[in-house]
Amino acid sequence: MSTGVREGLRAWLVHALAVPTIATVKLRSRVSGGFYLTGGVIVVLATLGTASWDAADIASIRAIGYFAILTGPLLILFGHRLPRGAYHGISALGTALISGLVLYGHGGEASVALAIPYLYVILDAAFFFGIRGLACHIGLITVAAALSMHHVGLSSADTVLIVGVAVVTGLVVASLARAANLAEEDPLTGLGNRRAFDRRLEEDLARTQHEHSTLALILLDLDNFKIVNDGHGHQVGDQMLVACADAWREVLRDELLLSRYGGDEFAAILPDHSLGRAADIADRLREVAPSGVTISAGVACWAEGDTASVLLGRADVALYEAKSAGRDQTVVYGDPTRGASELEAAIGAGELFLNYQPVIRLSDGAVVRTEALVRWQHPRRGLVPPMDFIPQAERTGAIHALGEWTLQKACSETAFSCANRGVAVNVSVPELRNPSYAEIVKKILVVSGLRPDRLTLEVTEALFDEDDPQVVRTLKELRAFGVQVAIDDFGTGYSSLSWLEKFPIDVVKIDRSFVQAIDPDRDRQPVLSAIMAICGSLGVSVIGEGVETPEQAQVLRDLGVDLAQGYLFGKPMPFAQLPAEPAIPAPR
Ligand code: C2E
Ligand code: MG
Ligand code: MG
Repeated sequence: MSTGVREGLRAWLVHALAVPTIATVKLRSRVSGGFYLTGGVIVVLATLGTASWDAADIASIRAIGYFAILTGPLLILFGHRLPRGAYHGISALGTALISGLVLYGHGGEASVALAIPYLYVILDAAFFFGIRGLACHIGLITVAAALSMHHVGLSSADTVLIVGVAVVTGLVVASLARAANLAEEDPLTGLGNRRAFDRRLEEDLARTQHEHSTLALILLDLDNFKIVNDGHGHQVGDQMLVACADAWREVLRDELLLSRYGGDEFAAILPDHSLGRAADIADRLREVAPSGVTISAGVACWAEGDTASVLLGRADVALYEAKSAGRDQTVVYGDPTRGASELEAAIGAGELFLNYQPVIRLSDGAVVRTEALVRWQHPRRGLVPPMDFIPQAERTGAIHALGEWTLQKACSETAFSCANRGVAVNVSVPELRNPSYAEIVKKILVVSGLRPDRLTLEVTEALFDEDDPQVVRTLKELRAFGVQVAIDDFGTGYSSLSWLEKFPIDVVKIDRSFVQAIDPDRDRQPVLSAIMAICGSLGVSVIGEGVETPEQAQVLRDLGVDLAQGYLFGKPMPFAQLPAEPAIPAPR
């Protein structure tokens, strides 16, 4: 068999065996419940005044009808709590009840008419079970119908007609449902795609919120997938993805909540799962991955009030931590053993405060804005500098709470002051990965009353290593809103100047190591001149950081640098100590 034909066959099989992703347990409970309820009502109605049904045992037929009428609403209301497997039982029960109707019809017209509801069971199975499940139910119905209809003396023509029409209708519905499902299916693995995932997550979260239950999320990412894909070709990469999907489908079989979230990233939604159980499942999924493939996993749990994007942001932070801690491991967001809660508690206890450092215009010394720098007044450790807790906050996910607190504090204090200056706030890359970040910033601006163009967000060069398109999307959205974006500590990372063109930024802050390396006796500053030339041609403004001497300030001024910041002009200080309107004289 040629590779093309084999691939085609495989794709068809994956597609045919899968259950449509739209066939959620919730929908299933409603449809099955609806079939039971309406089937019962129709049967009871049919028993009223049917003279030709004289031979039938009307009382028993009605009893079955009433039983179905009672079961229907129970399924509609509570059926979504049943495990998927239970629905095989519910379908089989339907088949048994209908066979009972056929038997109590005692042959003739009544038994033929009462066999029609077999169609319900087949339609139900066609939509909600994979092809294997459907085949089992078709087999069961065929046997049950043939036996009961034969028992009451109906001709085999009646059986063939009724069962044949039901089976063909079921098969057509099954293939139509799968065709409709294609928009939500990942063609390679047969799992749900991102669209299916997003829809399901919204639905499941609404239910979780309503029922005050729990929900956990697992993000799985193949380690070094890019190397395999680039080194061994896409076909090998594809095979690896398919092998993972097949292995994981087995583990999560009944829950059916696994989707391919994008590239080499998979996501599983686990309703009613605690963090601990979800972490165990994540470990299990990593274990069963095909040999030679290692997996990083991030796990997060829904908390009251979380939107889907906040929850996703958390799982993403956990995944990122798993990757940066060396890959091949599961990291659980907000695990208290990892120190996130201490910082979050410190925020709640009011142990954090902001210092502000003036940023001045070199031409006249006016304070154009300040940079907010966070401090932690720890009850035992004393004053803790940001470098001692921010990297850890980024790993544990506490950075989200910290970042929001800082932004809110900096914006409201700045908006409150009479001086019409701006404020710069440092932002960590994991914050930008949160799809709701732009919304959070906009809300804080609106609530504090600070004009968007008075806010600058400072991001370090770590941004350039980011391959999450969400980060660029967030930056673009914020800039469109009027917020400025600055690259902090420029020149310390390994990034090349070409990144400046690719990322949406307004300001470059030259790292203080360059400023402090200035030799005022040399008349040329080749590196600084080159940075200035590039920023000038890109229309990006430049700030010199860490200016400590008047000579450094003069060199920067001569190079055409607009703004500067450093101990020469002012150390970081509490808000109340900031000078009022342009009080700092231009250095000369
Ligand atoms: P950064 O954004 O580059 O902030 C400038 C740092 O340089 C500050 O240190 C500041 O005190 C120091 N500095 C300013 N002028 C001079 C100078 O003339 N000479 C010298 N030697 N140092 C100077 P700090 O406050 O310890 O902050 C360190 C870093 O912590 C910041 O670097 C920033 O990356 C991070 N950070 C501070 N606050 C926050 C925050 O709220 N959120 C986030 N994500 N990061 C923050
Ligand atoms: Mg900064
Ligand atoms: Mg800096």
